[in-house]
Amino acid sequence: MDPDIPKMALQTGAQMPQFGLGTWKLTGDTCVEAVDAALRMGYDHIDTADVYGNHREVAAGIAGHDRDGFWLTSKVNRGSLLYDDVLATCERNLQELEVDYLDLYLIHWPDADAPMEETFRALKRLRDEGMVRDIGVSNFMVEHLTEALEVAEVPIVNNQIKFHPGHQPWDVVELCRENDIAVTAYSPLGHGELLENATLKRIAAELERTVAQVCLRWLLQQQMIVIPKGSSEAHIRENLQLFDFEISPEQDAEIRGMG
Ligand code: NAP
Repeated sequence: MDPDIPKMALQTGAQMPQFGLGTWKLTGDTCVEAVDAALRMGYDHIDTADVYGNHREVAAGIAGHDRDGFWLTSKVNRGSLLYDDVLATCERNLQELEVDYLDLYLIHWPDADAPMEETFRALKRLRDEGMVRDIGVSNFMVEHLTEALEVAEVPIVNNQIKFHPGHQPWDVVELCRENDIAVTAYSPLGHGELLENATLKRIAAELERTVAQVCLRWLLQQQMIVIPKGSSEAHIRENLQLFDFEISPEQDAEIRGMG
C-alpha cells in the first residue's frame, strides 16, 4: 500500500520527501537488505554519508530501483572541505553509489580549518555541473549558519541537525525558518535511548502506538524531515506507519516540555 509520504517544498523548487531511511551504522548485507526493503515498502528517501563507509552497500540496495523514484542524500565530511577535496570526494561518492547525481549533498560538520566560502564555491560548481541537485549543511548551529548565509552564493536548502523529544535546539530551527532552510531531524529516536522514556510510553499507550512512532510523528508535525535508522524489516515497517494518526496539542505541549 502506498504510504503517501508528504513532500517538503525546498526554496529551489525541489520536493524533498519528509520521511526517509537513515543508514549510519548500517553495514554489509544488513545495509543492502534494509535499503532494498525500505524502497520496496514505499520509502522514497535514503540518507547516507561519505564517513558512514557504506556507499557500496547503499548502491547494492538501490540497484534495481528507479533512480528518479527516490531521493538520495550524502555528505562530505570535515577534513575534505577545501575546494579540490569537495570536488574529488563528490566524484568518488557518485562512483561508489553508482548514480549520476545526488538529490542533496551536505557539509557533514563545520570545519574551522576550511574557509566556508571555498567549500560553498565547490558545492556551487557541483550543482552547476548537475552532479548534485541541491546543497545544504549539517550540524550547523546558529553561528555556523549565520556565517554560511553570508558567504554562500548558492541556496542552502537544508540543515540536518540532531533533534528529538529530549534535544530541541529551537534557536537553530528558527534561524532556518527565517531563511527558508528545511530542517532534517537526525537521531529522531535519540539513537534508541528514548524508547524507554516514561512520558513517551504513556503518550504511546494513549494513542495505541509505539514510542518510536510517537517520536517520529511528533517530528513530522513540527514540519521537519525525519530519517530514522532501522536494521530489521520490522522496525523499518513500523516506522513508516505514521500517516494515519496525530499527536494532540496537549501531547505536543508535553513533548515540547521534554526538550
Ligand atoms: P535513531 O534513528 O534515532 O535510532 C536508531 C536506533 O533505534 C537503532 O538502534 C534502531 O535499532 C532503533 N530503532 C529503529 N526503529 C525502531 C523501532 N521501531 N522500535 C525500536 N527500536 C527502533 O538513530 P541514528 O541512526 O543516530 O539517526 C538516524 C539517522 O540520522 C542516521 O542513520 C543517519 O542517517 C542520520 N544521522 C546524521 C548525523 C549527522 O551528523 N548528520 C548524525 C547521526 C545520525 P535497529 O538498528 O535494530 O533497527
